[in-house]
Amino acid sequence: MIVLHNARLIDGNGGEPVSDAVVQIDGGKIAYAGPASGAPQIDEAKQPVKVDVEGNTICPGFFDVHVHLALPGTKGSPIMAAMVPESYRHFQLIDRLKATVEAGVTTVRDMMGVDVGVRDAVAHGLIEGPRLLVADKMLSQTGGHADFHLPSGVDGTGILGGKLVDTVDEARIEARELLREGVDHIKVASSGGVSSPSDDPDWLGAREELVAALVEEAHNYGGRPVAAHAIGLAGITSAVKAGVRSIEHGYALTDELRKEMVERGQFLVPTLLETLSADTATPQAVAKGEKWHAIAQESIRASVQAGIKIALGTDAGLVPDHGTNLQEMGLLVKFGGMTSLQAITAGTRTSAELCGLADTLGTLEAGKIADVVVVKGDPSLDAGLLGDNDNILLVLKEGKAKSNRGAFAV
Ligand SMILES: [Zn+2]
Repeated sequence: MIVLHNARLIDGNGGEPVSDAVVQIDGGKIAYAGPASGAPQIDEAKQPVKVDVEGNTICPGFFDVHVHLALPGTKGSPIMAAMVPESYRHFQLIDRLKATVEAGVTTVRDMMGVDVGVRDAVAHGLIEGPRLLVADKMLSQTGGHADFHLPSGVDGTGILGGKLVDTVDEARIEARELLREGVDHIKVASSGGVSSPSDDPDWLGAREELVAALVEEAHNYGGRPVAAHAIGLAGITSAVKAGVRSIEHGYALTDELRKEMVERGQFLVPTLLETLSADTATPQAVAKGEKWHAIAQESIRASVQAGIKIALGTDAGLVPDHGTNLQEMGLLVKFGGMTSLQAITAGTRTSAELCGLADTLGTLEAGKIADVVVVKGDPSLDAGLLGDNDNILLVLKEGKAKSNRGAFAV
């Protein structure tokens, strides 16, 4: 049993922080989170570990719902993935997983290139890392965002985790194969992309009937959600109408589609961190990035104001480095016009909802899993604090310390 006391509590529900709070953890679960005055008597026979967090802030473990652990961020280039045996790439995940959980991110949704074996290896304690939800493959049509056939004839599609489906039947079969493997969600690209070699974000990717077939299969075989990479208007329209759970990026959203997303209960994952740095893979990608990153930063405010459910995602690995995930918090405030508390709710409760994990994660309430982060200072006044890992003093995942920069006696 662990008792964190002398704390400010942000429970993830969006309310004002509770001062002089206590969080009691028992058997990896939250036993109590709230004001010290209302805390139940501790059973001293359980020899609880009492940790004075020195007036700092306790938050729920954070989510990043759009990462690519198979990609190196600025520490390499995607082409290097083709230069090593596949087994080597598994070992490259070790540092990326560790950096992510040490940044306070205890749950991630991987969007391409990591399979259920990696998820389960973390879940079973073979390697340290955040809890994973995985897509394994990203699907698109031939010539779409998942297609990495290069003009030279080299084909990087499979190496990066792409899979091409052009007919409704192919989409259904591929979805069922992924669901048979046990993936947590299906990832499809319904628009072109910045990094892909032969299309443009303005172009339609997987058309509505393909996306709708994926939504239907994923729903019927395990109730899994579909996440759509959708940057331009044609691709966003296809994905929204087909009934996906989340729009990833969503830069060219119109007010009409924003309204429809709210009505359908769809989530938006703005990945603003990815828009801060140039995708330097090719000159074409640089040019596409310059245009679309400006649109992304301008359009997010209207999406927030429209009341779309916003979850926190970064595209970590594509360009942003693993472990820089919570820099997205400050950007949701800066570009999205969110309050700091709203940004924190996006990265906790709303992201847990998107992942279908709101019953067990995302807020600090009795009975939930004890993913807990102690943050230096008061991030409810400045969510940007969360982007500096020096402020992430303690990370507990299921009640166990994964990082302890604050040198607390846990
Ligand atoms: Zn991505």
